[in-house]
Amino acid sequence: MKNRIDYDVVIVGGGMVGATLACALGDTPLRVALVEARSELPSWSCSEYALRVSAITRASQNIFEVLGIWPAIVKRRAYAFRDMHVWDATGAGEIHFDSADLGEAHLGHIIENDVIVLALYERLKDFQNVDLLNPHQTEQVYFDAENASLRLSGDKIIKTALIIAADGSNSWLRQQSNIIVRGWDYDQSALVTYVHTEKSNQATAWQRFMQQGPLAFLPLAENISSIVWSTHPEQAASLAGLDDNEFCAELTAAFESRLGNVLSTGPRAVYPLRFFDAERYIQPRLALIGDAAHTMHPLAGQGVNLGLADVASLAEVLVAAQQAGRDPGLEHTLRRYERWRKSENRLMLASVDSFKRLYGSDLTALRWLRNGGMGLLNQLGPVKQQVIRYAMGQAGDLPRLARGESLYR
Ligand SMILES: Cc1cc2nc3c(=O)[nH]c(=O)nc-3n(C[C@H](O)[C@H](O)[C@H](O)COP(=O)(O)OP(=O)(O)OC[C@H]3O[C@@H](n4cnc5c(N)ncnc54)[C@H](O)[C@@H]3O)c2cc1C
Repeated sequence: MKNRIDYDVVIVGGGMVGATLACALGDTPLRVALVEARSELPSWSCSEYALRVSAITRASQNIFEVLGIWPAIVKRRAYAFRDMHVWDATGAGEIHFDSADLGEAHLGHIIENDVIVLALYERLKDFQNVDLLNPHQTEQVYFDAENASLRLSGDKIIKTALIIAADGSNSWLRQQSNIIVRGWDYDQSALVTYVHTEKSNQATAWQRFMQQGPLAFLPLAENISSIVWSTHPEQAASLAGLDDNEFCAELTAAFESRLGNVLSTGPRAVYPLRFFDAERYIQPRLALIGDAAHTMHPLAGQGVNLGLADVASLAEVLVAAQQAGRDPGLEHTLRRYERWRKSENRLMLASVDSFKRLYGSDLTALRWLRNGGMGLLNQLGPVKQQVIRYAMGQAGDLPRLARGESLYR
């Protein structure tokens, strides 16, 4: 039939999460399509830093290593951070995590999102069973008992056993499927940029909690840090509008000059912040992954790491179904993925949201609690180690790829 192509799995959205799933299903017997609306890949140059970066955990690094993506990331740029230093602007509470206490070389890497996306698209070219369909906008979707069909821009119709929504927090597919999300806007925006500082960042991820929101300096090179400054939307807009010298002075003061003066800044961009978790991650012939399923505050640097864990779990479920000769789009097949990821994600989403609320409060009792709690946690070696292992993605029910093992036993 004209314009009719059949796949086992169609992934809609080729961001960091969707493109990683396409790579995870590469070289399997499944026929896969990756649909991406953008016409061009991000451009990246070693003389400029990109504005959007992610703190990538050890578990996510394992996924990239097993899938053969990690060398193309480090070939461009990835900065290992050894320490994390967090403190409260309103008191004496401080906490310090050191990779040496865990016997690890580092706690994770700060990586530009564009570097990850480029490495993923390079790797995709190696797989005969994965078609990249871009630029294609999704226009209509139909689900029936046997199949799902997508109509794409250019009157292209594709029929598949399973559609994966990896189309980000405003997911078109989630909305078309009437899947409800539970969550709220934070009435905060994140201003992002990169800066040069007078003093070295000591390969440390720094975060100062203020009542308006946290301010993070994430190391990109010895004297260069990526900034994520979460604050009221009006303040974020006004900071974005300052001239460079004024902005550097404001940032130096807000960060208590911990790295000396901020000497220069890159361009600035502002992102609204919200929290939600989709009520369901699956329905017959559909599964949600990454930001399409859940979105959280960036203060713990976990959003894409949870999305990559979704990928690793779903890929494991789909490969097992294929090996057993089961239809990948059946609710029964997908339920294991939903149970697995819902319980793991719920814990992280709730922890990050509680943390955000605790630090957003000016109530004396809560101030006392967070300062006292930070000090206490800093002294409790084993508990502190558990917290950091959790943040590194090394706790919980880890899928094979996140443990550094291949999908196939
Ligand atoms: C300021 C900030 C800092 C952050 N820092 C961190 C961090 O340090 N660590 C961390 O783990 N997370 C972090 N996050 C979260 C992280 O950025 C997201 O979780 C991640 O980008 C989500 O990836 P995704 O692939 O699910 O979605 P997206 O990145 O939104 O990708 C969706 C893709 O789908 C495509 N698309 C959309 N609609 C369609 C359609 N209809 N048809 C075809 N294609 C479509 C888009 O073009 C895009 O390529 C941060 C977030 C913010 C805002």
